[in-house]
Amino acid sequence: MNLFHLKQFSLFLACIILSVSCFAQTSTSDPHSYAQPDRAVVTHLALNLTVNFQKKVLTGKASWNIKVNQDAGEIVFDTRDLEIRKVTLGDPEKLTTFTLGKNDDFLGKPLTVKLSPGTTVVNIYYTTSPGAAALQWLTPQQTGGKMLPFLFTQSQAILARTWIPCQDGPGIRFTYEADVKVPPALLPLMSASNPQEKNKSGKYHFNMAQPIPSYLLALAVGDIAFRKLSEHTGVYAEPAMLEKVAWEFADIPAMVAAAERLYGPYRWDRYDVIVLPPSFPFGGMENPRLTFATPTVIAGDRSLVSLVSHELAHSWSGNLVTNATWDDFWLNEGFTVYFERRIDEQLYGKEFADMEWVLGRQSLADELNSFGEDDRDTWLKLDLSGRDPDDGMTGIAYEKGALLLHCIEERVGREKLDSFLREYFSVNAFQSMTTASFVTYLENELVATNQAAFQDFDYKQWIYGAGIPESCPPIISSRFLLVDLQIAAYNEGKPCSELQTKYWVAQEWIHFLSGIQQNLSSTRMKELDDTFGFTNSGNSEIAVLWFLMAINNQYTAAYPQMESFLNSVGRRKFIMPLYQALMQTETGKQMAMAIYKKSRQNYHPVATGSVDELLQWKEHDKNSPY
Ligand SMILES: [Zn+2]
Repeated sequence: MNLFHLKQFSLFLACIILSVSCFAQTSTSDPHSYAQPDRAVVTHLALNLTVNFQKKVLTGKASWNIKVNQDAGEIVFDTRDLEIRKVTLGDPEKLTTFTLGKNDDFLGKPLTVKLSPGTTVVNIYYTTSPGAAALQWLTPQQTGGKMLPFLFTQSQAILARTWIPCQDGPGIRFTYEADVKVPPALLPLMSASNPQEKNKSGKYHFNMAQPIPSYLLALAVGDIAFRKLSEHTGVYAEPAMLEKVAWEFADIPAMVAAAERLYGPYRWDRYDVIVLPPSFPFGGMENPRLTFATPTVIAGDRSLVSLVSHELAHSWSGNLVTNATWDDFWLNEGFTVYFERRIDEQLYGKEFADMEWVLGRQSLADELNSFGEDDRDTWLKLDLSGRDPDDGMTGIAYEKGALLLHCIEERVGREKLDSFLREYFSVNAFQSMTTASFVTYLENELVATNQAAFQDFDYKQWIYGAGIPESCPPIISSRFLLVDLQIAAYNEGKPCSELQTKYWVAQEWIHFLSGIQQNLSSTRMKELDDTFGFTNSGNSEIAVLWFLMAINNQYTAAYPQMESFLNSVGRRKFIMPLYQALMQTETGKQMAMAIYKKSRQNYHPVATGSVDELLQWKEHDKNSPY
C-alpha cells in the first residue's frame, strides 16, 4: 500500500450499485473482524450509494448475497461509525431484526442480522458519518483544479467497515458490480472496470468479476481525466496533471510485460493508475485494476516509478494471493517488495535494483534500531490481536520479508525461486494464505527438493523470531561504492563544486545525503544547497531528507519550503519524520504545532491519527497561540 486528500464544496450526489459472487473462504480466525464466515459468509455485494459532499456522508444500501452453513440463524457484519437504518432479507425485501454490539475504538460494532430459513440476500440501509476514517472529502481548494470537490477512499487495513457494512477481514472474498451516478462535471472510479471519460447522464456502471477482500474496495470521485498508455493500461489524474503523469508513468506497459514474464499472467484485465490530490496518506494503494498513487512520485524525472512497480506487483502478491489476517501482512508486502525489485531490475538494470536493495536494507536497519532488535513487532509473523492492525504496518513486513526471499534466492538460485513463485501465485490464486500455510507450502514445494541449500538456513527463525538472523549475506551496490568515495571526500572538507556527482540518479543522492555528516555548520548547509538545490528538489524523497537535515542544523533558509511541503503533502511516510524531528526542541515543537494547525485539515484521517498522537494534539489546540 501507500496514500490521499480533499476539500469542501457545494453539494452533490453519487449513486453506486455493487454486486458480488462466491467461492472458497478461509476459516482462519481473524482478530480484527467480528464476522463468523464459517457460519454465514458474504459472496457478492450490490451497493447503492448517494454521495453528499455538503454533509460529507454516503447514504445507501448494501445488498449482500450470502452463503449460510446449515442452521445458522444469523450473520455478522463489521461496521464502524455507521448509522444502520433498517435491514431487510431477500428480493422482494422483507424486514428483519438486527442488533449493533458494543463499540470498540478501531473494530467498531458488530452488526448481527437475524436470518430466515433459505435467506440468500441481506439488504442493509445505512449512512456513514462525516468523520468516517476511510473517506477523505476534499474541498475544491484542496484539489489541483480548485473548481470541483474530490472524494477518495482508503480501506486498508480495516476501514472498509467505515463506508460499507461488510465482513471486513482479508480472508473473505466477494465479487461486485456497481452503478454510480454523479454530477456530469465529475467522474467516479472504483477498484473495478472503469469509465474513461465523463458522460452527460452522470451514470456509470462498474464490474469487478474477480473476487476481492473488503480492503480492496475503493472509490474516487472528482474532476478526473484519462490518458491511454497502451491497449490495456492508462493513467487518470486531474486534467492539469494528466500530461505530467502520462510522461512520468510511460513505462507502465513495459512494467506489466516484465511482471508477467516473471510470475505469470496478469489476472485483472486492465491496469490503470490514478494520481490523487496530495493529501493521500500513502505512497500508493494497490486497489485492483486501479492503483491509487500519491502525486509525490511525480518527480519530473521518472526517478520514483518503483512505486508503480510495487503497486503493480501487488496484483499478484496481495490481491491474488492475500494475507489471511493482518498478522500475516508480510506475505503481502515482503513478497511485493521482492517482486518490485525484480521488475525494476528487468526495466532499469541490476545496478538500479541493487541500489534499491541497499537503501531498503539501510531503512530496515534503522527501523530495527528504533524498535530494539528483540522486539516482538520485528517478527515477520505479527501478533496484532487487541491492537489496531495499522500498528503492524511498519517497514519490517516490507524489507525483512523481501530480504528473506532474497536470501532464499541466494541459496536455491533464481531459476528455482522464480519457478516456485510462479507456481505459488497460480496454485493459490484468489485465495488467502496464512503464515503457517505458507511455511508448509514452502517446505513441500521448495525445501524438500533442495535440502542442501536449506541445511544451515533457519527460515523459521526469520518468520517467528526477532531482528535479522546472521545467515543473511550483505548486499553490495557498485554505484553506491562510488558515492561512498564522494561522501568521504565531502566529510573531509572537499568543496561541493569539486564532488563527482554527474549522472547521479535519485537513489545516489539519497545515499549521499544519508551518508554525509549530519551535523553541519550553516555555511556548509548553504554550500550544499547552493550547489545542489536540495531545498527546491522536485523529488520528495530527497527533499524530505534535506528538510530533516535543515531541522537538525537549524538551516532556516529551507523552512518556508518545508512548511509549504507539510501544508500540501499528506503522505504519512514523509510528514511523520518531519514532525518527529521538529518535536525534539522547544522551538521546533512550537513550529510543529503552528504548521499542523494550518495543515491538519489537508491530511487524511489515517495521517492525522498518527500526527495527533505524536503531537498530543487535542481539538482545543486549534485555538492555541502557536
Ligand atoms: Zn505494498
